[in-house]
Amino acid sequence: MQIRKQFRFEAAHVLPHHPGKCSRLHGHSYRVDVVVGGPLQSEGPAQGMILDFDEISAVVKPSVIERLDHSSLNDLLPNPTAEHIALWIWHELRGKLAGLAEVVVWETQTACAIVRASDAEAR
Ligand SMILES: [Zn+2]
Repeated sequence: MQIRKQFRFEAAHVLPHHPGKCSRLHGHSYRVDVVVGGPLQSEGPAQGMILDFDEISAVVKPSVIERLDHSSLNDLLPNPTAEHIALWIWHELRGKLAGLAEVVVWETQTACAIVRASDAEAR
């Protein structure tokens, strides 16, 4: 079983290799989905949960969202495609969030990049 928590951030980027309009400075309202899988806890305050959603926020906000929000993504990544942003987030969260199963970066309402554990470990 899995749980999914959504986050948002606003940021600017330039895609230097893009042949069209994305090579000009522009911004997006990004949405990030963080998916955690595992068994339901059988005791304690998170009984009946995989992980308390608040615990996901407590990791993701300082590690990722507060660093990316209102930033220029090219300061962090030379070619900040949705795919590269998703991989960067994966590597930031891996090791901090047990059971991390998937990171999704939505660049627009209809376009996203997905990293799953099997993809990420190959990188
Ligand atoms: Zn863009």
